[in-house]
Amino acid sequence: MGDHCVVMDTAQGASAQTQPSCWCCGNAFDDTDLTRLGAHPEVGLCAGCARWLNRRARSTADQGRRSPAVVLRRGIGAARERVMTVGAHAWPLVGPLLTRLDRHLP
Ligand SMILES: [Zn+2]
Repeated sequence: MGDHCVVMDTAQGASAQTQPSCWCCGNAFDDTDLTRLGAHPEVGLCAGCARWLNRRARSTADQGRRSPAVVLRRGIGAARERVMTVGAHAWPLVGPLLTRLDRHLP
């Protein structure tokens, strides 16, 4: 009888240890409520965190479209265009040099 109780306790302890929990918020869930990652089945996410990740993934994709690199590339392109339009002779340093060159050229 005593042995039976010990077995019961051990079983309960084991089930409490293997109670799956969300790897994102850390709350305990039933295994059926968790979404397992494909390459890491030991990692499970609850529905709430999966939704949060989905929202986050979408907003990250939105930000990716106007990432700093893209803005910078666009800015450099615009600056180069402006220089081409204004012309190098309008630059305070290059201008006099070009004028001097003109004077010395045949
Ligand atoms: Zn969660």
